[in-house]
Amino acid sequence: MTTTAVTATEASSPPVTFESLSPISGDVVGTHPVHTADDVASAVERARVEAEWWGALTFDERAKHLRTWKAVMTRRINQLAELMHAETGKPRGDALLEIALGIDHLAWASGNAGKHLKRRRVASGLLMANQAAHLEYRPLGVVGVIGPWNYPVFTPLGSISYALAAGNAVVFKPSEYTPGVGEWMARMFLEAVGRPVLSVVTGYGETGAALCRAGVDKLAFTGSTATGKRVMAACAESLTPVVIEAGGKDAVIIDDDADLAAAADATLWGACANAGQTCAGVERVYVHERVYDDFLAQLTAKARDLRAEDSEDTKIGPITMPAQLDVIRTHIDDALARGGRAVVGGADAVGERYVQPTVLVDVPEDSLAVTEETFGPTVTVTKVASMAEAIERTNASRYALGSTVFAKKNAQEIAAQLRCGMTAINGVITFAAIPSLPFGGVGESGFGRIHGADGLREFTYAKATARQRFKPMMALTTFDRTEKADQQLVKIMSLLHGRGSTLPKR
Ligand code: NAD
Repeated sequence: MTTTAVTATEASSPPVTFESLSPISGDVVGTHPVHTADDVASAVERARVEAEWWGALTFDERAKHLRTWKAVMTRRINQLAELMHAETGKPRGDALLEIALGIDHLAWASGNAGKHLKRRRVASGLLMANQAAHLEYRPLGVVGVIGPWNYPVFTPLGSISYALAAGNAVVFKPSEYTPGVGEWMARMFLEAVGRPVLSVVTGYGETGAALCRAGVDKLAFTGSTATGKRVMAACAESLTPVVIEAGGKDAVIIDDDADLAAAADATLWGACANAGQTCAGVERVYVHERVYDDFLAQLTAKARDLRAEDSEDTKIGPITMPAQLDVIRTHIDDALARGGRAVVGGADAVGERYVQPTVLVDVPEDSLAVTEETFGPTVTVTKVASMAEAIERTNASRYALGSTVFAKKNAQEIAAQLRCGMTAINGVITFAAIPSLPFGGVGESGFGRIHGADGLREFTYAKATARQRFKPMMALTTFDRTEKADQQLVKIMSLLHGRGSTLPKR
């Protein structure tokens, strides 16, 4: 596969290219240009023209275009799933599920943008009762989106759909591991809408860095925390605002009244689906001591039946990024060296392309497997004496993306004490599939939100208007203000705000 007119380069000399490879076989899946800083600048310049046109449309007009794009992608869902399978190695069924969820977000964003962003009247307050106050959320212009490879459709669509629905043009830089998927989505957009309001630039980190410096009006980054910091530093040079959706180290908390079969099932899927390469995947589990043995027995029984392998019906594919194999191996080795035990998998779980499910117990809290993002099908299971201890340990991480609670009586109370962006109760990662819920982290998992009304507003600026309807009874904003007006103001303030019931008596 080669690139199309959707991409930025139309240079006379042939561009430097790179190949995306199948993580299953090592075969070349596609060849793509390495876009230079000049190419990226041209793409942003062209996008600015598109932003003028797109931003001037009504919400309904934009929604109509986005519905057409959605329909084109949905009708070709198998084509996209096949491409995603080729580039990431993930099972086709997982690819289909990912696309379905991404399309659902696109539908919600386009259908709800008007409701949350359009101009509305807001209260003007007693002091400014003569004013009509209006608020609207306007598009920023051109949004740069930098994406990862692990969910190459769902993750970038979380930014792209919401940015487009809010009225922005988008220049998207997909991961160097999944450039074909990015180009495919932009090609479908062009076919559906007829204008490249969504365009793609491809390449390595340098291309992403160039997008940060190309004068976009906002940069939405999804990827590792380390790269997020570099993105933020580059964007700081021009005060370009950023959204950072970074790594996670999500925990599951299991109370003594939890449905243990459901908790074991969800933990295993949350830890091993997509070969553990999920930002909000399960990496740690804290279980009440009263049910620890029972839970562990159920989890290990299920985990032993699961294999990562090169077969048509495998439920776990390969590790997409070869360098990650070393990270996973190091985390397992470190856990074992510090006294941890592998009850499933272990030291030899990491192969040349695949990693077998690994359940680690008795792992000290300062081990790499507990403190750093592993991004593989591994999980640590730790016994706790109380839910207070589970909460404390969960919150001790520098990452704070999502979390899960399995409990009956105190589930809500436990969830409320977790410092992170999202919590699933008696399910796992469910929040990501609910389009009206915002998605994003706290601490080193990043900031800003995609999805939901917050995700729409993330790609806008608030525009406030105050219109005088009639002359004020008391002229306050003038040098002609009288002493009488000052005294009237003091009286009104006393009536409005001076009667707090907790004021000390003198
Ligand atoms: P990565 O940070 O290596 O790369 C992400 C993107 O940034 C790629 O497109 C890459 O080319 C680009 N990039 C690299 N260097 C850059 C630079 N200096 N300036 C600008 N762009 C640069 O991450 P990855 O390995 O592709 O993805 C895995 C990571 O993403 C994990 O940490 C995972 O937790 C995280 N992730 C987070 C979310 C979320 O929503 N919070 C979702 C998916 C993945």
